[in-house]
Amino acid sequence: MNKLASPPSALPAPRADLGLREGYHSPQVAVEVRLNTNESPYPPPAGWVEALGDEVRRASYNRYPDRSAHALREALGKLHGVGPEQVFAANGSNEVLQCLLLAYGGPGRRSAMWEPTYALHSHISHLTGTEVAAGKRGPGFSLAPGDALGFVERHRPSISFFCSPNNPTGLVEDPETVSAVLGSGQCLTVVDEAYAQFSSWSALDMVRDDVPLVVVRTFSKTWAMAALRLGYLVGPPEVVKVMERVVLPYHLDAVKQAAGRLALGFADEMEARVAAIVSERQRVVLELSRMPVEVWPSQANFVLFRPRASDGGEVWHALVDRSVLVRDTSSWPGLEGCLRVTIGLPEENTRFLAALSEVLA
Ligand code: PMP
Repeated sequence: MNKLASPPSALPAPRADLGLREGYHSPQVAVEVRLNTNESPYPPPAGWVEALGDEVRRASYNRYPDRSAHALREALGKLHGVGPEQVFAANGSNEVLQCLLLAYGGPGRRSAMWEPTYALHSHISHLTGTEVAAGKRGPGFSLAPGDALGFVERHRPSISFFCSPNNPTGLVEDPETVSAVLGSGQCLTVVDEAYAQFSSWSALDMVRDDVPLVVVRTFSKTWAMAALRLGYLVGPPEVVKVMERVVLPYHLDAVKQAAGRLALGFADEMEARVAAIVSERQRVVLELSRMPVEVWPSQANFVLFRPRASDGGEVWHALVDRSVLVRDTSSWPGLEGCLRVTIGLPEENTRFLAALSEVLA
């Protein structure tokens, strides 16, 4: 037996409450058309890459970066019409969610969410020792204001999560539902808006210093910077101060801070990319509605659908056989038989539609 493969006897067991949960990941398969992780199909603008190159050459690598990421937060604040004291940035919106749960969740506390929704809300809750109260959405994945409020009053979470547009359904949350939970006066409400630029509604207008609400955004989708890992929240300064206490010192490296700040100078290019993706989404939804599948009206850069007469998992495999990778959500709670396809380049969407139509024929 290989000695190195057996654990040293002095190694302690990992925390029992982690329950050896699997990390969140999407299987990466070598295919020609990858439509499984909701990234931007377009690279960032060439001007941004050039400007970042200049910053990379100029950075003082022997010094720690600006711990408070002030210039980035100021630029983000300007984008949203708020001050830097209302913005907290971290390594991807996942790290923002983790900081929120470190501060407002934890042992002896509870988080609330309504399935099906983004898996990391419950996953990071578990990692931070936060008990999860998972409610169920109603028909068509809707959540009535009264039902959400009743759930929060019953379970008394210290933090509750919405995702709008919701991953993986693509549906926008009813603003009344968010308001109802805010009105319960018991918990911090988080609206995860990773895909908000593709949709018609944002909770940003509801953010106020005296309202227990934060909106979380990412550079991974619209800003085409998934590889750089940058996300942020907009919320009351009191929450931002708490985030600065739970996050590790110097968590945002100098290059990333510059990358985010510079990206905001390319808003027009990014908006053009969003418009192209929204237009392709409309085409994909229209084509899907002509096939034997159930399809939900997405306001994100992906579409959820369910083959009516075929097994979702089998359709996923048949698509992979045709070199098209989508997300197999068929075993997720409340999503029996469903698949999620990210909107890609026009030619990739055409390949997906042709492959699906062949598989379902
Ligand atoms: N929130 C939602 C709803 C997402 O779908 C994702 C990406 N899968 C994230 C947050 C995480 O994004 P980031 O790359 O910023 O960590």
